Amino acid sequence: MKVYLDNAATTPMAPEVIDAMTNVMKEHYGNPSSTHAFGREARGVIEVARRKISGLIGAEPKEIVFTSGGTEADNMAISCAVNDMGVTRVISTTTEHHAVGHCIEGDQPFKVDYVRVSETGMVDLAHLEELLQDDQKTLVSLMHANNEIGTLLDYKAVSALCKKYNAYFHSDTVQTMGHYTVDVNDFGADFLTCSAHKFHGPKGIGFLYVNKEMKVSPLIHGGSQERGMRGGTENITGIVGLAKALELANADILEHQEQVQALKSYMISQLRERIPDVNFHGETDPEKSLYTVLNVCFPPFENKSMLLFLLDLDGVACSGGSACTSGASTGSHVLRGIGADTNRPNARFSFSRYTTMEEINYVLESIEKIVLAVPAS
Ligand code: PLP
Repeated sequence: MKVYLDNAATTPMAPEVIDAMTNVMKEHYGNPSSTHAFGREARGVIEVARRKISGLIGAEPKEIVFTSGGTEADNMAISCAVNDMGVTRVISTTTEHHAVGHCIEGDQPFKVDYVRVSETGMVDLAHLEELLQDDQKTLVSLMHANNEIGTLLDYKAVSALCKKYNAYFHSDTVQTMGHYTVDVNDFGADFLTCSAHKFHGPKGIGFLYVNKEMKVSPLIHGGSQERGMRGGTENITGIVGLAKALELANADILEHQEQVQALKSYMISQLRERIPDVNFHGETDPEKSLYTVLNVCFPPFENKSMLLFLLDLDGVACSGGSACTSGASTGSHVLRGIGADTNRPNARFSFSRYTTMEEINYVLESIEKIVLAVPAS
């Protein structure tokens, strides 16, 4: 059996999305910037998609800027805050995705303050407020859900603090768009980021939601596409795929949540029963944790550095985080950021609407066989 439990890395595309994209490739190949009928038709297709997406998240069409995905959207939010809005200080955490983390580390023309996170990855709101009291033009960049450990942000509290202290708020919503109903008015952020391939859409397309009060100069220079905010001929096929994927995800989002959360809760309880001394990185409370991600911290066993490889041999695709499991020399910055014991083997299992109970049972058997084979001496 082959089981794909690496949906936080990317998801299989929905057949309806493939159909919608195939139709665009066949029928709408004009350049959206061309003034002839082919071009105007392609432009129309993009604007219909933009309106659909903005409607789904409570935004205005002009607040959606299409990008090549989540990484570019995160980069663009930070660039806009610093270069266009005069931000001189960014507050973030050490557990953000590298699309944010690498943008703010090292020598920068702005100061960076890292807000403390708990051992489950929860942002310390009292510390955030303390940092915000330092009167500087500030961007707070905090991800809605951590992609490695699934911990959710109390975005309403963060948004209220940002408003109180006049700070801009960016949230990387790459792991939550298409999985929760995101409404920009309820979220209260100035920038939100989206990546289609995390919810059964295509890779290489996403968007940045930018509150209409912001000024945005382009990160990618070229033509005047995206109302001058991003040069380059639009990825019309991807844009249509993104709109279709978000529409499908939103159509049955609550059922999807319930179904996937049930699989995750089952896996947690089975692991607790079957694997002595098993633990979980991040929160397990469904209110505080992304229902698609489960990061398991296993007890040491003889072949612990081979965990992902052995699971892969068994047909189970998941991902690691710490040096011993992923082969990376530096290990997971997220696990380090929450002070986890990275000597213990860990694996991130991430689910989607296509995951079945049969697959979870197969994975549990595989884990049991591998982890309980020979205990560490
Ligand atoms: N932010 C988070 C939280 C992610 O999980 C990812 C993808 O892994 C990204 C940003 C980057 O998105 P993309 O792959 O579309 O560039």
